[in-house]
Amino acid sequence: MRVNSARGSVTFDCSALPYDMLPSGAFYAEAQARIASSPNVHLETGAVVIGVPERMKQGWHVETSAGAVRARRIIDTRPAVAPQIGNVILWQSFFGQEIECPPARFDTAVADLMDFVETTSDGIAFRYVLPLSTTRALVEYTVFGPRPLSPLHLSRAQDDAIRSVTKGAAFRVIRDESGVLPMGLTQSPPAVETDYARVGLMAGAGRESTGYAFQRIQRWASASAASLRHNGFDVAHRADALPQRAMDRVFLTVLRDKPELAPELFVRLFSRTDACRVLRFLSDCGGPLDVASVIASLPLGLFLRQLRTAFEWPSMRLRSAR
Ligand SMILES: Cc1cc2nc3c(=O)[nH]c(=O)nc-3n(C[C@H](O)[C@H](O)[C@H](O)COP(=O)(O)OP(=O)(O)OC[C@H]3O[C@@H](n4cnc5c(N)ncnc54)[C@H](O)[C@@H]3O)c2cc1C
Repeated sequence: MRVNSARGSVTFDCSALPYDMLPSGAFYAEAQARIASSPNVHLETGAVVIGVPERMKQGWHVETSAGAVRARRIIDTRPAVAPQIGNVILWQSFFGQEIECPPARFDTAVADLMDFVETTSDGIAFRYVLPLSTTRALVEYTVFGPRPLSPLHLSRAQDDAIRSVTKGAAFRVIRDESGVLPMGLTQSPPAVETDYARVGLMAGAGRESTGYAFQRIQRWASASAASLRHNGFDVAHRADALPQRAMDRVFLTVLRDKPELAPELFVRLFSRTDACRVLRFLSDCGGPLDVASVIASLPLGLFLRQLRTAFEWPSMRLRSAR
């Protein structure tokens, strides 16, 4: 993998912790097959929940476009609020396209995790290139910034990203993807009632410093299923341990307040630390030595000065690790 900026570049070996792409089609096919084989789970696709679930004497009444549903308990993964300025410390907005470009010779041995381009008024911007074969790649333009950005807003920069990797050669777009992910919620996640839980990305499912949520949601789903099997309702997302939350918050406030330093900070992080340590730390499975190495690679004075700001967010004070 490579992290690249105007002031430096670092390529690191991540074969000890391989980076995989899981196509969502395969994931959904597997999930739907398991649901279909379960006698007590019914999946209603294409239905929209209308209005707010109503509490009844016993349980809940939910109005949907496919009719009314009664439930003893609800686990609601819909985002409670739409992405807007102020909801989070930074928004991660991205627009990507998988392209086929027969004249290209993508280097399948190296993925560009972050190839920084000039920081704009939108925020910190970088390109991501994941070669899938010598002629096929996923090319993505990402911004970490204070405002959520639509794919339309990102489309010109995405065109530039593709032009830079195809070097002007003709290409075909196979599919596109886009998203807006929260990095550091500024409000406390909604309280969990004994029979209604709000979960998902806007309720604290993602890792604050990366926006990654996939593996965390898998772990959450397993733990929640175990709890439900034993007739419990322990389904809220667990807050990360305080040191990790503090580090993520400080890192995010540095990125928000000094976006121009971001390229240098990421290159520094990956060049001064064994990449496996950084990757373990970012994947929530870092030990104390990994955490210490990550801290040692970053400019301590700058981060210490941001410590107070990072603790001013209500969600930092109110959420407690369980
Ligand atoms: C394109 C993309 C790529 C990503 N890639 C990665 C990655 O590589 N690694 C990683 O860790 N994370 C990734 N993420 C982030 C994260 O894993 C996903 O966003 C994850 O799906 C979040 O889960 P969620 O349950 O919070 O939200 P969602 O998966 O969005 O689930 C919310 C569900 O609620 C439904 N819904 C909303 N309103 C209603 C309504 N009124 N009635 C009925 N249903 C409703 C939606 O249709 C949706 O199915 C990616 C996100 C996106 C968008």
